[in-house]
Amino acid sequence: MMETQKQPTLIFMFGATGDLARRKLYPAFYQLYKKNQDFAVIGLARRPHTDESYRDLINQTLPKSSEDRSSFLDRFYYLPLDIERPENFSTLKELSDRLDGQYGLQGNRIFYLSLAPRFFGLAAKHLRNAGLTETSGWKHVIIEKPFGHDFASAKKLNNDLLQVFDEKEIYRIDHYLGKEMIQNIESLRFANPIFESVWNHRYISNVQITLSETLGVGERASYYDQTGALLDMVQNHIMQMIALTAMEPPSRFETEETRYEKVKVIQSIRHASAENIFNQVVRGQYTGGVLADGTKVPAYRDEEKIDKNSNTETFVAARFFIDNYRWSGVPFYIRTGKRMSAKSTEIVIQFKDNPKNPYFYHLNDAAPNLLVVHVQPDEGLSLKLNVKQFNETGNTMPITMKFCNNCANEGNTPDAYERLLADCLKGDSTNFTRWDEVAYSWSLMDSIVAAWSEKQLPLDHYEAGSMGPASADQLLARDGFHWWPLTTTV
Ligand code: NAP
Repeated sequence: MMETQKQPTLIFMFGATGDLARRKLYPAFYQLYKKNQDFAVIGLARRPHTDESYRDLINQTLPKSSEDRSSFLDRFYYLPLDIERPENFSTLKELSDRLDGQYGLQGNRIFYLSLAPRFFGLAAKHLRNAGLTETSGWKHVIIEKPFGHDFASAKKLNNDLLQVFDEKEIYRIDHYLGKEMIQNIESLRFANPIFESVWNHRYISNVQITLSETLGVGERASYYDQTGALLDMVQNHIMQMIALTAMEPPSRFETEETRYEKVKVIQSIRHASAENIFNQVVRGQYTGGVLADGTKVPAYRDEEKIDKNSNTETFVAARFFIDNYRWSGVPFYIRTGKRMSAKSTEIVIQFKDNPKNPYFYHLNDAAPNLLVVHVQPDEGLSLKLNVKQFNETGNTMPITMKFCNNCANEGNTPDAYERLLADCLKGDSTNFTRWDEVAYSWSLMDSIVAAWSEKQLPLDHYEAGSMGPASADQLLARDGFHWWPLTTTV
């Protein structure tokens, strides 16, 4: 069936009582409802709820307001369901057929699996066996992260899903792809010839991507201790940021053409090997320290539910090379970690210096031009240039030109989950990851894990509230670079 915008849809909200649903998904549904999206929702989890108590739970997740939300909340229904009990899915079939008719939903279905990853394949299987995926309309399944924990497990999960859904029906969510400034990278590059013409190894000396958090592991401790920063953040969000920054312009701005160009980047990133791992990757773990707001926090190994001898990295920095013509020899440095000095996500493009000329002495100290994409907390762009100082010397001084998107559109930029849900409702999977993107990304991660296990790459400690271990600075210093200071505001 041909999909168009704003088609009526029945949404199956698995993990209806969970953290993600409460913090992100219900507020997103509400915004979509206000924009005239036509849907009904069945909330599914084990906890006992009636429709009424479920609607109360949802209401509490919405921003305080005097608006009458009853027409929105009335579209939510609850069914207690245990993924491990197939008989629960027959009851679900009856309810969904009834709601299909009641709301005229034309058999269009979204199965949102906001569940622990071990349930993704099982949920899909039971949905098929109960006849829920045989529908007169279209069907999409949204899979939360993580999609596997290495290439082999991701492939197994993918094969399980393919027993039930076609690739085009599988929406693997990476919420970074719903962020305003991540979506803006394409416009920045392909709508501005002054950037695209210099977007290559001739003019760019290096790229730096930082995704830093001040939070510790919190309630995700057990999961995090099994996973670590590389697999939790680099395999998905950072790979996507590299792909969008480095990809060729697609032949058309259409889903498969765009994804194809992203795949080519991820596929071209040089794998790690035991010989180069010490120059490519740094692993860190935080010790106790004091955060920027003065809060004293314990070491990772002293956090609740963390093994006292844990060797899990809470910080990782890496240097990647993309082995293609455009990016030949340009290092892409990345770093991400917990309990760092600031919460920030940004991409810094550092341009090459002008040739030095002894007769241009007053220009030789000019700072490098930097283009910074500020992803969060502030959303915007800044461009560092050099101008003449206002004095007799003629020396230069750096200035910054800025654009702050969320200052200009305060309160109006939709949340990432709202955008991505809207895309899924209208059948646009451009900003979801295709299987081959995931597969190449996992095989790169597998090469890193294999190399660091073989060489027993040390775990370098860093104080909570800092920007990571000194070895992360040395990673760049060896190439004559340094990390540019983070900017949390544009
Ligand atoms: P969560 O708070 O632990 O919620 C898990 C949900 O699954 C609950 O609604 C739970 O409800 C339900 N559930 C557990 N066992 C079940 C079973 N046997 N049958 C049916 N339902 C069951 O987890 P979450 O943080 O919301 O995360 C959900 C997914 O999103 C995970 O894949 C996670 O990795 C991903 N994710 C979360 C975040 C986030 O910020 N939270 C961010 C990115 C990705 P009952 O206990 O009532 O059954």
